[in-house]
Amino acid sequence: MKRTETRKIKVGNLFIGGDKKVIIQSMTNTKTKNIDETIKQINELYNEGAEIVRVSIFDNEDSQSLKKIIEKSPCPIVADIHFNPLFAINAINDGVAKIRLNPGNIDDENILKKILTLAKERGTAIRIGINSGSLPLDIVNNFGVTSISMMMAMRRYVKIFEDNEFYNTVISLKATDAPLAIEAYRLAANEFDYPLHLGITEAGPKELGTIKSCAGLAPLLYEGIGDTIRISLTCNPVEEVKVCKKLLNSLGLYSNMVDIISCPTCGRLNFDMEPIVKEIAEYTKDMKFPLKVAILGCAVNGPGEAKEADVGIAGGIGSGILFEKGKIIKAVKEENLVAELKCIIDKYYNEYKKNKLC
Ligand code: SF4
Repeated sequence: MKRTETRKIKVGNLFIGGDKKVIIQSMTNTKTKNIDETIKQINELYNEGAEIVRVSIFDNEDSQSLKKIIEKSPCPIVADIHFNPLFAINAINDGVAKIRLNPGNIDDENILKKILTLAKERGTAIRIGINSGSLPLDIVNNFGVTSISMMMAMRRYVKIFEDNEFYNTVISLKATDAPLAIEAYRLAANEFDYPLHLGITEAGPKELGTIKSCAGLAPLLYEGIGDTIRISLTCNPVEEVKVCKKLLNSLGLYSNMVDIISCPTCGRLNFDMEPIVKEIAEYTKDMKFPLKVAILGCAVNGPGEAKEADVGIAGGIGSGILFEKGKIIKAVKEENLVAELKCIIDKYYNEYKKNKLC
């Protein structure tokens, strides 16, 4: 898949943009002023695979807590400063990797200029985050809420940044409506070379929000658009990271996970397969290495049915088969299928860890 080449923006020890990797982000939902809880959640997100984590700066106490959080964080921190430009200035002085702001929320252009000057001096990146729900009124009143309106607002803000010779910019044009977001991001990718932060905002609860986010982001990612993503779900944000990984993995943009391929089951099934799929998913959930594991209800089409899998099992009546790279290794009694599958998964995992150490 060819990816759109964008400007490379330094965010802490990482880069967003270029033409390859899509960086996974999430956001804490703790009170930032509760430093221990926030650090704990940042670590949970990082351990799951988040490469950048955003925290909310809602009041003075949050703002004063940021420095300690940056010091203790295992990954670059983004400060979301909402409406208060002073929080942006404090965050940059405290060494934050990136701030997210909506310039439409900052009335005083002189303060915005001060933020840009300081960010330039300190090498801080800024995301211009536009949401369909908070576009400038003059644009909405004349043109409504459309992808064109979103682009008009973005052009306005990018111009202010560029007039102040600030180019360390990431941009986002989020909408709650997936087709609107797709249109807006396509227009932005066509016009700007700044890296794009993709997201469907306020996507909803875990299951529905996952579907909506994937409906909106998959077409863009498949077209090579998008340099970083955040999935916004109403649940523990660790789930957002899991969805990001699975979405990117489904499009061939992330490989550091075990992918489970399982059939939907049908009348040919002769054993209780669903608990086995759950057990293997649980067994492999913390194994961060590329492996495709197939679990099929029967061998009706042989292991060729799941030939893209590295290893797998297919059930039968009383016994099943274990296969590897599309070839049958052996027949296995039904009660031993799971143990045999775990054993071969372990073999691949241990080889991976050994090669990584060498
Ligand atoms: S693999 Fe077998 S059990 Fe599973 S859906 Fe296909 S035919 Fe049905």
